[in-house]
Amino acid sequence: MKTLSNINATSVSEAVLAAQEARAEGRSYAYSGGGTDLLQQIKDGTDAADVIINLRNIEGSGQISASNAAISIGGLITLEQLASNDIVANRLSAIAQAANSVGTPQIRNVGTLSGNVTQRPWCWYYRNGFNCFKAGGDQCYSVDGENGQHAIFGGGPSFIVHPSDVAPALVAFAAVFTIAGPDGERELSSEEFFVLPRNNPARENNLLEGELLTGVRIPAAAANTVSTYHKIMDREAWTHAEVGVATVIQRNGNEVQSARVVLAGVAPIPWRVQAVEDFLVGKQINEEVAQAAGELGIADAQPLAKNAHKLPMTSAAIQAAILDLAAG
Ligand SMILES: Cc1cc2nc3c(=O)[nH]c(=O)nc-3n(C[C@H](O)[C@H](O)[C@H](O)COP(=O)(O)OP(=O)(O)OC[C@H]3O[C@@H](n4cnc5c(N)ncnc54)[C@H](O)[C@@H]3O)c2cc1C
Ligand code: SF4
Repeated sequence: MKTLSNINATSVSEAVLAAQEARAEGRSYAYSGGGTDLLQQIKDGTDAADVIINLRNIEGSGQISASNAAISIGGLITLEQLASNDIVANRLSAIAQAANSVGTPQIRNVGTLSGNVTQRPWCWYYRNGFNCFKAGGDQCYSVDGENGQHAIFGGGPSFIVHPSDVAPALVAFAAVFTIAGPDGERELSSEEFFVLPRNNPARENNLLEGELLTGVRIPAAAANTVSTYHKIMDREAWTHAEVGVATVIQRNGNEVQSARVVLAGVAPIPWRVQAVEDFLVGKQINEEVAQAAGELGIADAQPLAKNAHKLPMTSAAIQAAILDLAAG
């Protein structure tokens, strides 16, 4: 049986140092938030870590602070805390709703924001030990195999869908991702943090060796900004999005001044549909506009053999989300 070491880091620098030491000793490490994804991956052998660096004892790592310029959220906040925080619920509703849609109460009680955003893909082949791109191999088994839950946008050479519900909501609010690592701290924009398989087929984000996600900073939105997260699943609970859409709209009355529309469950990264965003600007929100936006949202989709059902789902989700944000 494999021997695992657990290190309870009490500061970010201690965590980063522990990772460097493990590496220097030729051991494989992994950062752990709630462990709801990581521990199963270690059991299944899809994560080779023999040193677990537990981040949950880092003081203040899950706090929320708000200023006029931004809301900062620590990466170790649990999804339950994120969903039930008043500032998040009132000012960043789509993020609260997305956090509240994840898995089960048990997962939300221990699963963290950082762990949710950096969880590995749930493609059946990868999770069952196939040596595909995500496991360091050089092929994708889903292309000619089971691809019912795979990407309709941005795929190739891997066709995973990004599994996080919270990430699209963060992107919709133009969150900045804060990172710590061996070379100190840095920040990446929403556009820079996630990576398409065509640029790096083995990874889903641009964290470098030894780096960890410490939190997010969300620029203050205009006062008349509203948002929502819609999630469609293949069963009633406990599962990832078949299709999701995070929508943030700045309104003047019922007229859209600006919009960010970001899809979940349909692409290897949270997928912005800029054609829909541009179309909405200056429009009054009504049934006709929402329907046109839904149709526009799938204009560039490239379904695989078994996932065309995601097209009408995506259209319907966009349509419903926009109507939801019409002035009351
Ligand atoms: C039954 C079930 C249902 C689920 N349903 C959903 C769902 O509906 N929606 C959804 O989005 N997810 C779902 N998940 C996936 C996942 O468990 C949760 O998203 C959870 O939020 C992950 O957070 P965690 O803190 O437990 O991550 P962990 O398991 O601790 O870590 C996940 C990954 O992130 C890495 N990591 C953790 N923290 C950091 C950090 N600070 N910096 C860098 N890397 C880090 C780990 O090394 C690991 O690779 C589900 C999981 C299960 C088992
Ligand atoms: S979609 Fe990605 S994770 Fe799935 S088999 Fe292809 S390369 Fe592997």
